[in-house]
Amino acid sequence: MRYVSTRGQAPVLNFGDAMLTGLARDGGLYVPESVPQFSGDEIAALAGQPYEEVAYRVMKPFVSETFSEDELRGAIKRAYAGFGHAARAPMVQLAPNHFLLELFHGPTLAFKDFAMQVIGQLFQIELEKRDQKITIVGATSGDTGSAAIEAFRGLDNVDLFILFPHGRVSEVQRRQMTTPIEGNVHALAMDGDFDDCQGKLKDMFNDFTFRDEVGLAGVNSINFARVLAQIVYFFTAAVALGAPHRKISFTVPTGNFGDIFAGFLAKEMGLPIERLVIATNQNDILHRCLEAGDYTKRGVTPSISPSMDIEVSSNFERALFWAYGKDGAAIAALMDELKTNGSFTVSPNAIGALRAVYDSGAVGEGRTMEEIGDSLRETGELLCPHSAVGVNVAKQALQRDPATPMVTLATAHPAKFPDAVEEATGIRPPLPPRMADLFERDERVTRVPNDLAALEALIRERRRK
Ligand SMILES: *Cc1c(COP(=O)(O)O)cnc(C)c1O
Repeated sequence: MRYVSTRGQAPVLNFGDAMLTGLARDGGLYVPESVPQFSGDEIAALAGQPYEEVAYRVMKPFVSETFSEDELRGAIKRAYAGFGHAARAPMVQLAPNHFLLELFHGPTLAFKDFAMQVIGQLFQIELEKRDQKITIVGATSGDTGSAAIEAFRGLDNVDLFILFPHGRVSEVQRRQMTTPIEGNVHALAMDGDFDDCQGKLKDMFNDFTFRDEVGLAGVNSINFARVLAQIVYFFTAAVALGAPHRKISFTVPTGNFGDIFAGFLAKEMGLPIERLVIATNQNDILHRCLEAGDYTKRGVTPSISPSMDIEVSSNFERALFWAYGKDGAAIAALMDELKTNGSFTVSPNAIGALRAVYDSGAVGEGRTMEEIGDSLRETGELLCPHSAVGVNVAKQALQRDPATPMVTLATAHPAKFPDAVEEATGIRPPLPPRMADLFERDERVTRVPNDLAALEALIRERRRK
């Protein structure tokens, strides 16, 4: 499998190189040149298999030139061994034809663990084979950072720096990033919002001198390996509900568009997905874009679902690449426009292509709180605010199409956002026992300015030579 950039000007790479490269050198994102196809029989054969087996079969065709069968099976097995649920991604029913896919049983209680745990293993195998050291810099709205730290802490070949927006993550999220004791982990609290953090990360990747000097690598969902591992649970959920013999829809709480884009690839691979519904909070740039064809930044307003407080939704570029018939030059022009004007207009053809696949909805703060309370009363399920945004948007989508089973992705555990959940329900969700002492551990964090030169200097100094 070969990987090409969404902007059409970067070298074509194999999976291993695309994984270690992260952002393409033309500023684009790597995508597979063609998408492997699964027949109805192959999909039907996934029913009833353990999560790890489905993960192996789904990921194999994307990585087979880089990893042997044993390497991939071993990486997957180790990745999910620490999950707190035997099914890995269990599903519960909320209402007639409405299901909740619980993606929060990993070590840091958010869906990011599904991919990060796998790529931690894959990076380790590949770096050892190449006898190579790298510096991973990640930007996080809260959950990617802790998942990356959990996956890479203590590794000899990796120094890890995580940029998070100072004061804009929940206390549990912050403590998960600042309390690990390993010397290769550095939590950096940056002045600004998540888009500022992600912007600085992209600037570092575009500073080729720095990039090559420190061996910069990325584990944000700009890294295709992240997206790949997230395709798996769309398959496990859909076959559990009757695919390939029945069509299924999914609603995905969305920020950087990585998770829902994994659903799109599942659909491209042959999984019968009827609709992919983008659920956003009050930062609704994706919903507005789907409605009006106009992607315009207005500034991010902090919300109770901070992991979705994003306006520069990186992986939307991958969706646009497909919608524009894989025309890299067109994508490069749109992204230039966004950088200079803070907006772009999607062509009528492309918006038609997006609407053929995606629906969307936005939920404000008040309704999110109400949904947490409603869901508890209706089903006994305690939702995190992100998942509540998803469930509310899914309920609206189910009214339009009650016949197709709807799966809403529960992206984080309620205990990760205890303040909002307590305010909505009066119940303070406890942390699982394995992290019950999180609030007693010492924190280690460096405050950093929103300044490229200062960040690069700090990384040069702190990384192990
Ligand atoms: C990261 C995250 C999201 C958004 O996922 P994207 O892949 O960035 O769209 C939603 N909810 C939670 C809890 C998250 O951590």
